[in-house]
Order: sequence, then C-alpha cells, then structure tokens
Amino acid sequence: MNTETSPAPERADFIREIVSADLREGRCDTVVTRFPPEPNGYLHIGHAKSICLNFGIAEEFGGRCHLRFDDTNPVKEEQEYIDSIEADVRWLGFDWGEHLYHASDYFEQLYEWAVELIRAGKAYVDDLSADEIREYRGTLTEPGKESPWRNRSIDESLDLFERMRAGEFENGARVLRAKIDMASGNINMRDPILYRILHTEHPRTGDAWCVYPNYDFAHGQSDAIEGITHSICTLEFQDHRPLYDWFIDNLPVPSQPRQYEFARLNITHTVLSKRVLLRLVNEGHVRGWDDPRMPTLSGLRRRGFPAEGIRDFAAMIGVARADSVVEVEMLEHAVRDVLNRTAVRRFGVLDPVKVVITNYPEDRVEEMDVPNNPEDESAGTRRVPFSRELWIERDDFMEDPPKKFFRMAPGREVRLRAAYFVTCDEVVKDADGNVVELRCSYDPDTRGGAAPDGRRPKATLHWVSAEHAVPAVVRLYDHLFASPNPGSGGRDFFDDLNTESETVLSGCFVEPSVVDVPCGQTVQFERLGYFCVDPDSTKDTLVLNRALTLKDTWAKLQAQGRHDTA
Ligand code: ATP
Ligand code: MG
Repeated sequence: MNTETSPAPERADFIREIVSADLREGRCDTVVTRFPPEPNGYLHIGHAKSICLNFGIAEEFGGRCHLRFDDTNPVKEEQEYIDSIEADVRWLGFDWGEHLYHASDYFEQLYEWAVELIRAGKAYVDDLSADEIREYRGTLTEPGKESPWRNRSIDESLDLFERMRAGEFENGARVLRAKIDMASGNINMRDPILYRILHTEHPRTGDAWCVYPNYDFAHGQSDAIEGITHSICTLEFQDHRPLYDWFIDNLPVPSQPRQYEFARLNITHTVLSKRVLLRLVNEGHVRGWDDPRMPTLSGLRRRGFPAEGIRDFAAMIGVARADSVVEVEMLEHAVRDVLNRTAVRRFGVLDPVKVVITNYPEDRVEEMDVPNNPEDESAGTRRVPFSRELWIERDDFMEDPPKKFFRMAPGREVRLRAAYFVTCDEVVKDADGNVVELRCSYDPDTRGGAAPDGRRPKATLHWVSAEHAVPAVVRLYDHLFASPNPGSGGRDFFDDLNTESETVLSGCFVEPSVVDVPCGQTVQFERLGYFCVDPDSTKDTLVLNRALTLKDTWAKLQAQGRHDTA
C-alpha cells in the first residue's frame, strides 16, 4: 500500500472518488455542491441522505455547499415550506453560510437565455394544447411527431414569447419548446417544454412573472451561474442528463457543471414521496407534517430522534447507484446508539400499580442519588424523592409467577433501583379481582440498593414516589404503514396504513425532574425506552412521545446474518 498519497476521505463512495479525482487531476480547484429542494413540502429522511452527501462532500474536501430553492412551480410552493426547509437543514447540522439562492433569482437571466435560443433557431413557441403535445410526443417504442408550429419563423416566436411574458395569453394557451429531436430515443430530448404560462403569484417574485421555466430549463443553468462543480441528484434524473448537457452546451453559461446520479433512499414501512406525505396531512391521517410517525425531519425531531443519529444513519447506508430498500430498524439502530450514549436516565411508570411500604414512616421523604447515565459517569447524579407510597409498573408484578418471572411476587424480595430491597407481603384487590395495591415491607439496611450481607435480588424495578409523581400522557408509536413495502403489488398506499400506529396512554407517572426536560431533548426511562416531551404539553398536562423502545431488532437481525431486504 502506498502511504505517501494524501489521505483519502474517511468514507469513499463513487461520488467521493469522482470528486477526489477531479481535484487531484485539476479539473476543478474547489468542489462546489448544492442541495436543491423544491419548496412544495417538508423535508424527509430521503432528503437528509442528499443533504449529508452534498454538505458532507463540501466539508470533507474543503469546498462549499449552496442551499438553493428550486422554486419554479408557484402553484405548489409556499413560504411555510421554505421556512421549514431552512430550519431542518440547520437542525441536521449543516450551514450554507451566505450561499442561499433561489432559482427565481435567475428568472430574468433564464428568460434572456430562452430568447437567445429562439434567435438561434433552437426554440419555438408552440400552440398545441397539453393533450396534443402529449399525443405528439410518441412513446418509448415510437418516435414523436413534429408540431405544426415547430417551423414558424423566429420573429413570430420571439413576438409570441414576449407576449406570453406580458400576460396576453391564458394558462396553457402556448408554451416555449426547445427544438431538438422528436425522434430521439430519449423522450426528454423530444422538444422539451422550457416555459409555460402560469398566472399565479410566486412566493418570492409575486406577480412579476406569468411565465415560469420548467425544472430542466432552470436547474443546470442555475448550477452554472453558481459555479457548481458537481451537481448530485437521484437516479430518476439520469435520463434528463443529456438535456442538462444540451443547455450547458448551447447557452453562454459562465461555467460547466456536471451532473451525477445516485440511488434514492427507500425505507421499509415508510413512504418517501412528498405527494403521499401531503395527502397524509391533508386527509388527517396524521397530526401534521411534524407528526412523530412521519418520516419528515420535523416529525423525526418531534419523535425525539437526534440529528446525530440521522447523520450516522446516512453514513451507514452509504451512497451507491443501485436501488435498494433499507430496513427501518437500521435507522432506529443508529438513533438508539446515539441515545444510549447521550440520553439521561429518568424514572417513569407507564401502567402504574400502587406499592405501599408498610414499615416505612408515613411522613418520611428521602432523596435518593441516582446516576444520570450509567454509560457516562460525567453525566453525574440526580436526587429522586422516595416515600412510603410508590408507583411501579403493573407488569412487574405477578401473583402466580411462572418459572422465569423474577420480578415482584408474593413473598419475594426485589430491589427498587437505587433505593431499597422490598418484599411483597400482601396483595389487595378490588371487587373484580384486579390488583389495586401491593403491600410490602422494606429492609432499611439496603439503602442505595445493596445489602450488607451481600444478598442480591434477581430483579431491579423502577419506581416513582406517588406523592411526588407528575402525571403524564404518553404516546406510543408504531410504523405508519403496516406493510414493509407500502403500495407494492398495485395496492393503494392508504390501504397499507397501520390503524394502530399510535397508542395513547393516560394515567402514566414520571419522576418530578421530567418537567425540567426541554422540548426536543430525549431521555431514557429506565427499562422502558427513549421518550421526549411533546410540544402539545401544557402547564397542566405533560405529553410525552416514545421515540424508541430499548430493543434493538436490527442488531439482532445482523447477528442472525440477515443484512437487507429487497
Ligand atoms: P419527492 O419525490 O419526495 O417529492 P423530490 O425529489 O421531488 O422528492 P426535491 O425537493 O426535488 O424533492 O428534492 C431535493 C433533492 O433531494 C433532490 O436532489 C432529490 O434528488 C433529493 N431527494 C429527494 N428524495 C430523495 C430520497 N428518497 N433519497 C435521496 N435523495 C432524495
Ligand atoms: Mg424534485
């Protein structure tokens, strides 16, 4: 191995290799990338893959990454989306500095270039209707047919295009098309539409325009204006690349960007299409774009997934050209890894049953020192109040336990975490036979959770002092879609919705310090999972979301030698 070459970036993938070679061989001096969202919805985890790739490459190779809004379709675009996209990219941990751009910044330049194409005989105004244009376009196996307007004079096209801009015509009355090749094997090259008439206000340019460029006519030229060196996008744009290059070659653009495609992210039990996500919101299947079940960045954030976990996931899945489906458990694994390291531990009881310690003084309250994170001593300890009446988890008790159940049962001693050993002496039931109270006695010599004689109970339970407990509503989440591949086999996505994706538990109790946990910070309730405070919380009601349980099914699948699903 040659140790004298400059260090390769930490992770090599085919795009990083291209960038690395271009820099090494002098095809560019600095790498300039961009993330180009269309502001017609909230960003989802698929976008996070693209953000981590574009911003990551710029960072690793000492270049820069632009945030550019691809705002060429005012019919679907809104300021709310623009604001959320900026907030989400920042939250994910990336910074575009002063390089915030909009395709709409270039509308005047793009218009001038369109006029130049007409002058050069490479574009024309077409009067065919949208349906006719579709009909004339041909199919994958049949060539298209030329429009009768294709050979109208340059002057006539120039005049009509100017009048399109001036607002003389209705939506859909005319379009501007490139004159390329109606027989091309690539349908994108069959005289693609460059401009259409849309009498619609634009979130940024207001009513300055009533003709808007199509994506293809805006994207490459915007890249060229900004000096983008590597225009990285998903595979569905591969067939658009010849057109991308055609514009770069046929217009006096100030630089020569190149487009590279990678496979988009797909995740099991998840739909990553803004069109479907918008329907979920509009039809009320979820609480909004930021519902904790949504794969949007704002949803994942509200669910309690830290940005670091999402970045780690993006690094784990890598970048390739082959389409694949990643198991959602892998995302959960990456997030759990971060939370296990960073989340402070707290006590919470989701399904409480009362414990009364009969030999504990009625008015006594002790403050128990409990470590905040057994994985991280520097997280310190906190004080948790302990008293005569406590809540424990209902399923931590069994009156008639089977062999492998080691938790509380009549006559058996268990440890209350960081407090005392207690033994259940008596079970109190209501008229229907439900357990309503467990009367226990404690051993005062076991304070802190250890006995002087070294005896060790087989189970350690979490608890919350009844007098000090804070009531909470806890929302548990499961996959939004029951099927691993929603909508496959020709089914409607919406038929695959999981009707039990959210379970709301009321009557939960958490230790008092949880009221100080800020929104957006995730804690671990010992033995239960990771939880965060939901913004729906009020002064009187604490609402918590369960981000994840503690069970790592992905790690288990890996151990069994299963790596991916298709
Ligand atoms: P959707 O299909 O969800 O509507 P889109 O591609 O229309 O998404 P854009 O706002 O145009 O959304 O996407 C911005 C960038 O994010 C594009 O470069 C696009 O290629 C990339 N991107 C979108 N979805 C994914 C995904 N699932 N995986 C990776 N990159 C993606
Ligand atoms: Mg798009």
